[in-house]
Amino acid sequence: MTVGAAATVADWLDRAATVRPRAELFIDGRFSPAASGETFEDIAGRDGSHIASVASGGVEDVDRAVAAARRSFDDRRWSDQPPATRKRVLLRLADLVREHLDELALLESLDVGKPIRDTLSVDVPSAANTFQWYAETIDKTYGEVGPTGPDALSMVTREPIGVVGAIVPWNYPLIISAWKLGAALATGNSVVLKPASQSPLSALRLAELASEAGLPDGVLNVVTGPGAVLGSALARHAHVDKITFTGSTEVGKSLLRAVGESDVKAITLELGGKSPQIVLADVGDLEAAASTIGWGIFYNSGQTCNAGSRLIVHRSVSGELVERIAALGRELAPGEPLDPATRLGSIVDDRQLARILGYVDLGRSEGATVVAGGMRVREESGGYFIPPTILDGVDNRWRVAREEIFGPVLTVTEFDDEDEALAIANDSPFGLAAGLWTRDVNKAHRMSRRIRAGVVWVNTFDAADITVPFGGYKQSGFGRDKGRHALDGYTQLKTTWFDLSGK
Ligand code: NAD
Repeated sequence: MTVGAAATVADWLDRAATVRPRAELFIDGRFSPAASGETFEDIAGRDGSHIASVASGGVEDVDRAVAAARRSFDDRRWSDQPPATRKRVLLRLADLVREHLDELALLESLDVGKPIRDTLSVDVPSAANTFQWYAETIDKTYGEVGPTGPDALSMVTREPIGVVGAIVPWNYPLIISAWKLGAALATGNSVVLKPASQSPLSALRLAELASEAGLPDGVLNVVTGPGAVLGSALARHAHVDKITFTGSTEVGKSLLRAVGESDVKAITLELGGKSPQIVLADVGDLEAAASTIGWGIFYNSGQTCNAGSRLIVHRSVSGELVERIAALGRELAPGEPLDPATRLGSIVDDRQLARILGYVDLGRSEGATVVAGGMRVREESGGYFIPPTILDGVDNRWRVAREEIFGPVLTVTEFDDEDEALAIANDSPFGLAAGLWTRDVNKAHRMSRRIRAGVVWVNTFDAADITVPFGGYKQSGFGRDKGRHALDGYTQLKTTWFDLSGK
């Protein structure tokens, strides 16, 4: 069968029909069923079909996974290996991810409804690149010697935190798992990874590949099952030292409470967003801006934490810009995710579909005009599809402008002067990312400093690279994934003081 870039939709459909993914818990280097023997159904967003029956773990299974991780951390089977050896293991994992490009891309497309062209060209290569990048940090991270005078030697070293509970969402399962695993494993921690129930398959395969790459048993474990049970068990577990979470603000708050009520373990939260795209009157090439702004919200069917979901546009260019984004939206009709020609896939599941359509109705009742999309399409496929949708004439105080919709829905709010634009952009509970469009570099610099967001893109949107940190202000969370700064989240600083006075 033809695979990779040359594969046709028929090839991918054939392959999807015969795929038999591993769907049990991965603990201590082995797959095993849940203690209860229970499973849950993993459903494909593209047609509502059954992909796999996945082990539905419970508290007992979390205990087993944490015990395996704890043993592997306490006996130092990973953290004490020479840096060059650990680096080789993670580099091998990066290679194995690349070698299994087709398989991982297919699992990710089936689980999430992402277009196969994206999982082949973005999700899988980006995950591999992340492992490679963090592997390369292992033998390039130095400690410090403190300036404590001639009678003392004070060393400041970075040590792994211990057992990390990593809880990840369904929108970029491989990429976000790789961000967390890359940094946590590079720094010598052991991990219990909890993927979302909509998208458990790539994490399970990744754990198997990590074993094949030489990661010792117990260092990476994967538990699947209900988030409220497993996530809370991890956050309250006395033998977990750190929680790293990416997901909704609501669940992030519950994890913060769980950590506070249990043992004050370390926690970082990468949460929701409602990112503004501010377009000034001197935007320049309107067509290029319309394309980038459109992709900034519609990519991955808007199921992106940093999606540029609020267009805040100067009144003088609003009409023309919105018309161009709407034209792009009409071109990007969602289609079969396994067709290599498809640019927009499905919504992840029926619940998310209903949520997005509910917000479109809410927008209408709040007074917005739907100028593109706004309804379910391709219903005959059995899948969950919504085309690019634009709500025009939105007041930033309305719920559609304040709450995360997490679908391909752009709201449009006009402004007259730049202070007003900044005030609207910052008037949000979230602060993950923002875009700013202007040809005036002085203005761009001045205004970008006043935007309260973890990432500000000037004259672009969603440009990304593993070299730079990613994370939010305000209710978009705290802590950072990606780049060297992410390593801080998985290490403790230890000061060791040697007395050299000879006394
Ligand atoms: P979610 O919060 O529903 O679930 C995230 C993870 O938490 C899943 O593994 C889920 O099973 C688990 N979970 C669910 N309920 C839980 C509970 N009560 N206690 C502990 N864990 C629980 O989020 P989602 O729907 O999977 O993903 C979408 C959300 O993720 C959006 O809000 C999006 O903005 C956010 N997100 C943020 C970033 C970022 O980097 N800031 C990146 C991607 C997604």
